[in-house]
Amino acid sequence: MTPKVARYLRDVAPATPCLVLDVDRVEENYRRLMAAMPLARVYYAVKANPAVPVLTRLVGLGSSFDAASLEEVEACLAAGARPEAISFGNTVKKESAIRAAYAAGVRMFAFDSEPELLKLARSAPGARVYCRILVGNDGAEWPLSRKFGCEVEMAKALMVQAGRLGLDPYGISFHVGSQQTRTAAYEAAIARVGMLFTDLREAGVNLRMVNLGGGYPVRYRSEVPAIDAIGDAIMGAMARAFGNALPELVIEPGRFIVGDAGIVSAEVVLVSRKAEDDPVRWVYLDIGRFGGLAETEGEAIKYAFRTPHDGDADGPVTIAGPTCDSTDTLYEKSNYRLPLALESGDRIELLSTGAYVTTYASQAFNGFRPLTEHYV
Ligand SMILES: *Cc1c(COP(=O)(O)O)cnc(C)c1O
Repeated sequence: MTPKVARYLRDVAPATPCLVLDVDRVEENYRRLMAAMPLARVYYAVKANPAVPVLTRLVGLGSSFDAASLEEVEACLAAGARPEAISFGNTVKKESAIRAAYAAGVRMFAFDSEPELLKLARSAPGARVYCRILVGNDGAEWPLSRKFGCEVEMAKALMVQAGRLGLDPYGISFHVGSQQTRTAAYEAAIARVGMLFTDLREAGVNLRMVNLGGGYPVRYRSEVPAIDAIGDAIMGAMARAFGNALPELVIEPGRFIVGDAGIVSAEVVLVSRKAEDDPVRWVYLDIGRFGGLAETEGEAIKYAFRTPHDGDADGPVTIAGPTCDSTDTLYEKSNYRLPLALESGDRIELLSTGAYVTTYASQAFNGFRPLTEHYV
């Protein structure tokens, strides 16, 4: 928690549940990432936190943006981003959205299939296009399975076709999964992209850009590799794959930019047991899976908690949200412990929750309103 967030919580004590996010920390994270990978251009993954103060600060820093929908494209433009600084990175787009983004001046688009490439040829003529390939997601705490990307052989054929269709075959992208804790995932993916560049050059297509996607991790309950170490591993892999003919490098950080800039402040609604002698207490909060904590699905992302009783004796707990859906249980198997003194009415903070929370909140499931947001 940054000093500014701590001060805001102390002085203002905003109603819970809410997110309090320090926009200066967003800037620090952006600068730390640039320092770790000075040759890369940052396209902030808007979905991680699309709040106006975040986008505006990043526009001011010269960031570019990775948008997944026409709405996100429009949010970037409204925050002052130039259309040339926006990549429409979703490989699954309505053709009407492609047309509207193109009309607004967006000239860079992702795809991973022939039907999507044909849409781009029709509705974004001449645009820079990059093909997303499937890569391993081992080591990612929030992996992406096979939903996006295609096999390398298909990517090769599609990039050749892109040129024939009058598009600009610009580069290759991948995404190693979010909260990626192993640098090997990037290294293996970069090696594959290097070979694909060579194959395509032999086929007469000279690509110019590698998009390394996101995945750069944030510290929750356990240590993660330092961003400098990740940057070194990535640049080492780039040198091995491309020698000194380095292509343009794009990165799409989301979580790393906003994650540790924000905290969720919540209230303990109830602490109870299922039997007198049950050692495990159930702790119900006023925020849960449907209030924005979607990444607790499968207990994938394990947030750290701060309570007014930290340091006192603790015991095992199951932590749940306030709604009447049993899937609104956050942590049952991840060995969480909270102070024995914790009781109804206590405030509790979920640390490093600046990413992937606010926009995941449901409108009013069980009548609970989405969390409020404070940017300080
Ligand atoms: C979600 C996403 C990102 C951001 O991922 P983080 O793990 O938050 O850095 C980047 N690129 C693409 C294509 C994404 O879908």
